[in-house]
Amino acid sequence: MTAARFRRLALIGVGLIGSSIARAARAQNLVGSIVATARSAKTRRRVMELGIADQVVDTNAAAVEGADLVIVCIPVGECGSVAREIGPHLAPGAIVSDVGSVKAQVMHDMAPHLPASVHFVPAHPVAGTEHSGPDAGFAELFIGRWCILTPPEGTYAAAVERLKGFWSGLGANVDTMSAEHHDLVLAVTSHLPHLIAYTIVGTANDLSADLSTVTRSEVLQYSAGGFRDFTRIAASDPTMWRDIFLANKAGILEMLDRFNRDLAKLTRAIKVADGDTLFELFTRTREIRRGIVAVGQDSEAPDFGRPRPSLSPAPLPRPYASEEE
Ligand code: NAP
Repeated sequence: MTAARFRRLALIGVGLIGSSIARAARAQNLVGSIVATARSAKTRRRVMELGIADQVVDTNAAAVEGADLVIVCIPVGECGSVAREIGPHLAPGAIVSDVGSVKAQVMHDMAPHLPASVHFVPAHPVAGTEHSGPDAGFAELFIGRWCILTPPEGTYAAAVERLKGFWSGLGANVDTMSAEHHDLVLAVTSHLPHLIAYTIVGTANDLSADLSTVTRSEVLQYSAGGFRDFTRIAASDPTMWRDIFLANKAGILEMLDRFNRDLAKLTRAIKVADGDTLFELFTRTREIRRGIVAVGQDSEAPDFGRPRPSLSPAPLPRPYASEEE
């Protein structure tokens, strides 16, 4: 797919995602100029210091004036009120998009405030980290990741193609699907794992407050047993994730219901010492991990690619050294 170029990109919200779009769009020469804004003066000042936008303005309305591409990069709960602010100031023919992790609710909240003269093409780049703010972004974030577009029925096809071209220019693979389907898929691949991580980290924290069972220092010291991988996910931005759980209530509750049934099955298997059930499930889940590595969505490196300290160059003590040494 050929990369699409825009004259003026307006970014509303310049945190992890907005600032990564700005950096990547610049690096790939996809935009003539970038105008950015954020809610707080502190963030706007930081964006200016970082120099990732050509212009930083104080209001959302001012940001969209004359832009042919507007991308709203803010927590999903804010999207409706921001659409109301920018609606009257959008240039006719502009493409308006977002990056929200939930699609049906965001479309429902934004669409009524957008004039018929613009093209609304919602999007969700399935890429991120647990960090937030303009310093957290980087130009390579979207390379090899998927960006899902959920254009409402009847959206001008050329506008969808242009936005596809923009995201592929940022390095992403682009897919399209309905908002409702997106929300179900993401409920199981992203929202439910976050809920589980938030729960287990909370449980460990509550448990370690009761010093008679497991101490806090034990939880931290032995975290490499699996816990630390949950803590990375559970360190994600609280506002963003509160909004996601409220906005994708139906999808998450459906997946949570299935999860609870499966957890009950495993609980029973442990209680009755049914090792076959456990072994059969763990064999299937291992295949899923191999599949994710095979399609390039993670690296095969053990320990999830964390740098490891090297071993001491001193010879190994017997009996570990071979006889020849
Ligand atoms: P972030 O780093 O916390 O940045 C959010 C930005 O939105 C900040 O610049 C904030 O400004 C601004 N903002 C909030 N309310 C605003 C308003 N009413 N008007 C103008 N600006 C406003 O968040 P993020 O991680 O980039 O996430 C942004 C969106 O991307 C969310 O909808 C999220 O669901 C989606 N997403 C996130 C990830 C991820 O891994 N993080 C991945 C894919 C999609 P201040 O700093 O001044 O408050």
